Amino acid sequence: MDFSIPKKFSEEIIRFKKFIKSNVISELPGWYQHQQIPAKFFHEMGKGGWFGIELKKGQLLKGSSLREALVAEELAKVSPGVAVAMLAQIDLGLMGLLLFGSDSLKKRYGDSAVRGKTLMCLGNTERQAGSDVANIEMRARKVKGGWLLNGTKAYVTNGLISDLAVITAVSDLQASRNNRMSMYLVDLHAEGVTRKKLNKQVWIPSDLTRLHFSDVFVPEDHLLGNQRQGLQQVLTVFTYSRVPIAALTLGTAVGAFELALEHAKKRKIFGQTITDFQSKTFEAADFYAKIEAARLMLWKACWEMDQNQNFRQESSLAKYLAVEITRSVTTWAADIFGAASVIEEHPVHKFPMDAWASSLGEGTQDVQKLVIFRELMKRYE
Ligand SMILES: Cc1cc2nc3c(=O)[nH]c(=O)nc-3n(C[C@H](O)[C@H](O)[C@H](O)COP(=O)(O)OP(=O)(O)OC[C@H]3O[C@@H](n4cnc5c(N)ncnc54)[C@H](O)[C@@H]3O)c2cc1C
Repeated sequence: MDFSIPKKFSEEIIRFKKFIKSNVISELPGWYQHQQIPAKFFHEMGKGGWFGIELKKGQLLKGSSLREALVAEELAKVSPGVAVAMLAQIDLGLMGLLLFGSDSLKKRYGDSAVRGKTLMCLGNTERQAGSDVANIEMRARKVKGGWLLNGTKAYVTNGLISDLAVITAVSDLQASRNNRMSMYLVDLHAEGVTRKKLNKQVWIPSDLTRLHFSDVFVPEDHLLGNQRQGLQQVLTVFTYSRVPIAALTLGTAVGAFELALEHAKKRKIFGQTITDFQSKTFEAADFYAKIEAARLMLWKACWEMDQNQNFRQESSLAKYLAVEITRSVTTWAADIFGAASVIEEHPVHKFPMDAWASSLGEGTQDVQKLVIFRELMKRYE
């Protein structure tokens, strides 16, 4: 067993930290103010090859999951809201295309998405269908040459800025609940699409958007994968995306933890620094141990994914542990700053809110437990 990070990845992460410094940190105040990430960020990420996906002879190749986890963690340490926009682009939108799109669709859109020129997202959740993924009502009606989509996707990260969306819809009303859905690649500039940006307090500056579809025509060849397999397909996308979201969540914990430690070393109370209080150092040691445990679980999930093993349980374990730990670490970190932490502009302020967001995206903690237990039971059949 080898726990070392390959040298080429650690060198790349040093380069990525420089990228973050010059392309993200300096821009963040403006992005936070407008609560929007400009397309330029995605172009720069694509140019730098930071999306971790490459094309070979028109075929998209998924790179190393560990490399992507390291990138997501670094970005989230600075801004979980920017990291989630990257994740929605590659691990939700592009992943749907990568896993289920035809060769010609991948050729047509893949290269541009990998370069960050075409922006992507995924919409499944509706008001009545979140954890209950199959409960969607959005309809896809067969017409000559394609499909007409009608309905509303309630919460879509990157929905405001995306060109393309992977969208699930009921295409066969007569079929059983698990076989009613299909998945489509939808041009968000098409006639009949309207977007409403939602006002949220988490994962700023990414956008959370309601997408409404009214008789939106989707050409036949934009069906992703097989008709009636949309539920299985979207759950597969989530199995993949839970790994990078675990990395993002871990980065949220580490970002807050490092800020708190820096402050604790300097802040004098009753004539001593916070790190002079042993109770506080014990708390820090406890959280550090938990962060390391979550990281090991995450890296195991990355390894399983890259070995093409069944990593369904590991991806949920990684996300579950990361969220549990991050919720408590970020609240502790905010406490270390006392009253200053409630001020909106304070760097620690966003972290507890972003930990909250992590607990929702790609399935709640209860949903992770359902997956973990279901996979566990398979071993005892
Ligand atoms: C910031 C943000 C970004 C998002 N981005 C996207 C996106 O890009 N695309 C997209 O499609 N969706 C997105 N979502 C939606 C997200 O995936 C859902 O919010 C999430 O799956 C939970 O669904 P829900 O909100 O309907 O909650 P519900 O499903 O209504 O859950 C409510 C409560 O019931 C619990 N619960 C549900 N089922 C069970 C069960 N079987 N056993 C025990 N308890 C249960 C849940 O854990 C939760 O505590 C986003 C959400 C947020 C907040």
